Amino acid sequence: MTSLLLRDAELAGQLRADVRISDGTVTEVAPALSRRGEAEYDCQGGAVLPGLCDHHLHLYAMAGWNHSVRCGPPDVINRIDLSAALTAAEPDRHGWIRGVGYAESIAGDLDAAALDRLRADRPVRIQHRSGALWMLNSAALAAIGALSPDDAPQAGLERGPDGRPNGRLWRADDWLRTRLPRSGPPSLARVGAALLRHGITAVTDATPDLDDRAIAAIGDAMARGQLPSRVMLLGAPLGMVLPGDLGLPGPAAGPYKMMLADSGLPAHDELADRIRAAHAAGRPVAVHCVTREALVLLLAALADAGPLPGDRIEHAALVPRELLSDLARLGVRVVTQPGFLPHRGDDFLRDLPPGDCADLYRCATLRQAGVPVALSSDAPYGPLDPWAAIVAATGRRTASGQVAGPEERLTFAEALDAYLAPPDAPGGPARRVRPGMAADLVILRVPLADVPSLPTPVRAVLVRGALR
Ligand SMILES: [Zn+2]
Repeated sequence: MTSLLLRDAELAGQLRADVRISDGTVTEVAPALSRRGEAEYDCQGGAVLPGLCDHHLHLYAMAGWNHSVRCGPPDVINRIDLSAALTAAEPDRHGWIRGVGYAESIAGDLDAAALDRLRADRPVRIQHRSGALWMLNSAALAAIGALSPDDAPQAGLERGPDGRPNGRLWRADDWLRTRLPRSGPPSLARVGAALLRHGITAVTDATPDLDDRAIAAIGDAMARGQLPSRVMLLGAPLGMVLPGDLGLPGPAAGPYKMMLADSGLPAHDELADRIRAAHAAGRPVAVHCVTREALVLLLAALADAGPLPGDRIEHAALVPRELLSDLARLGVRVVTQPGFLPHRGDDFLRDLPPGDCADLYRCATLRQAGVPVALSSDAPYGPLDPWAAIVAATGRRTASGQVAGPEERLTFAEALDAYLAPPDAPGGPARRVRPGMAADLVILRVPLADVPSLPTPVRAVLVRGALR
């Protein structure tokens, strides 16, 4: 196994020291360590940190974005851009064109007829930037057998006045996949490389209901060194034990992901029963929750079912002030994404009732209320770059320069720590570089104090002590 001596590392923003690594573990941290024949790496005073953890992203959706047409900001901002992008798009080997990142600000609500005017000669499917909606043109509807009123009696398939599917398909990815040309899970190699480039050595995949094949392919990618050393899967089925749960290499099952759709909420008792079932299987819950109504329902159901340590709320995009104490009392963690604010903040501030703007992607007031807060990207639906998300969490600036929720700003240290907690304790105490820890480390180009002014501060990454 590798041995390495990191020279002149800045630790915790102050101390300068050397870091000895052997067999994938940090073994010594002290000034002027003597060399024991191992390789040396001169950090030149740059900060050395534990590898960052992105507590909520979607690995396969990220892989999908790598071969998709960008149909939303910042690449595409109006109908002219969208038309140009779709016209130029190369179909995949099945003849399909896949678009991602669409927002209504570009060309309104898209249905099959509207999409046909943009590109009709190939099946086209475009995903809304929220990930909740696919929009299909007529060729795509024909290809999946969903053209006539009798076709595809599928929940989520929106219908026009004539009763025929209109091309808009809500939260039905699993069903859509059964109708698309078959292809195996996409390669995760480029996703893994992007994670390492940003200094991310641990991730939590928040995709619900992962199947055996998808989980096995993630394990394979880890074994081949294509993914970070720690991967937690919120979408692992209840009852499934993964290698990581047993301390073996490979993914671990985390809390159990549950969706609370933005419309059509479940009944209180049904939700409480689902939470009880997850808890009975030994899994805390991780509940997607973006509206005020969903949060009220979730907190009531959690109180009813009884919380389990590790229960978490994903996004918590709107938290009314009067619910802060309930969140704290239930002991739930919040995994949120102020990194959305630079791109979408102006849309949020324009579309929300003025009274709700203070409730948007809360961070500081949650912490003050005693709620553990972790940051994450929700990539590919939000930008992956944790350093940009940290800057967003400290300034909360929108593209036009407004500050979205000034009292929710975190300090740089708080925002960084929100990426440094371990995957199984989001919002918990940040890991620090010390003897005994796994040598998953990030080496920055500069001391910590200079990071906020540097767009790409990562110089190198160590995974289990190996330089990457
Ligand atoms: Zn997500």
